[in-house]
Amino acid sequence: MIRVEKLHKTFGTGTRARPVLHDVDLNIAQGTIGAVVGPSGAGKSTLARCVNLLERPTSGRVWVAGTDVTDLPERDLRHARRAIGTVFQSANLLRRRTVAQNVAMPLRHLGVTAREEKRRVAELLERVGLTDRADDYPAQLSGGQRQRVGIARALALRPKVLLSDEATSGLDPAATRSVLALLRELRTDLDLAILLITHEMEVVREVADTAALLREGRVIESGAVHQLVADP
Ligand code: ADP
Ligand code: ADP
Repeated sequence: MIRVEKLHKTFGTGTRARPVLHDVDLNIAQGTIGAVVGPSGAGKSTLARCVNLLERPTSGRVWVAGTDVTDLPERDLRHARRAIGTVFQSANLLRRRTVAQNVAMPLRHLGVTAREEKRRVAELLERVGLTDRADDYPAQLSGGQRQRVGIARALALRPKVLLSDEATSGLDPAATRSVLALLRELRTDLDLAILLITHEMEVVREVADTAALLREGRVIESGAVHQLVADP
């Protein structure tokens, strides 16, 4: 699961102190998609970065897949990050590498044999429906397909939790629907806990099980999506 408890984040100190997150609680169980939705500047990225261990909270606690990661020493962070797959807004693929090579990237330096790597990449591409595009380059794909390659890469290390940071922001409605359908399928098939960051309430309604509405660093409403009333 992904759990955040009484999270506060302040950038800077003294008279320059800039509080960005106040008393944020989140709880996303395995096999569910929990959205954090809010307008630009609400603190969504900062919250995401506290979960994928790129930022340290000022106070509060963070658990990822059963482990309290709040006070992990610096040397353990890299290992801990492997438990978290991240999908970015613009898939962030390497342009000069094929689809298969991009998906294999996280497996490099892990001592995975070439044969095992090939097997894992084939399995991942099948999961995202891109088996026949393995040898293409990112530029040959549609935006939605590129995003699915990014998802396959995020799953390469078999994470228990997935963080989707505005993954459908640049996509047209049809591509958005296909990426969201894939996330729903993965949630169930792989029993993932997915933290979905978005500024679009449409996306939340389409795919999330639970949501927290974030405004000016505070959760103003949270719960099951069908019970939420406010617009972000
Ligand atoms: P969102 O993702 O919802 O747009 P962010 O988390 O990016 O929100 O930003 C929330 C607020 O935190 C903004 O006012 C932003 O300027 C501020 N902020 C983000 N990162 C930093 C930082 N490293 N130092 C200072 N302020 C920051
Ligand atoms: P088993 O317990 O038999 O390994 P799983 O349901 O855990 O079955 O996995 C089924 C297949 O999905 C396996 O081939 C595994 O490699 C793959 N898989 C499981 N979890 C993940 C994950 N988080 N990301 C990517 N692939 C996964």
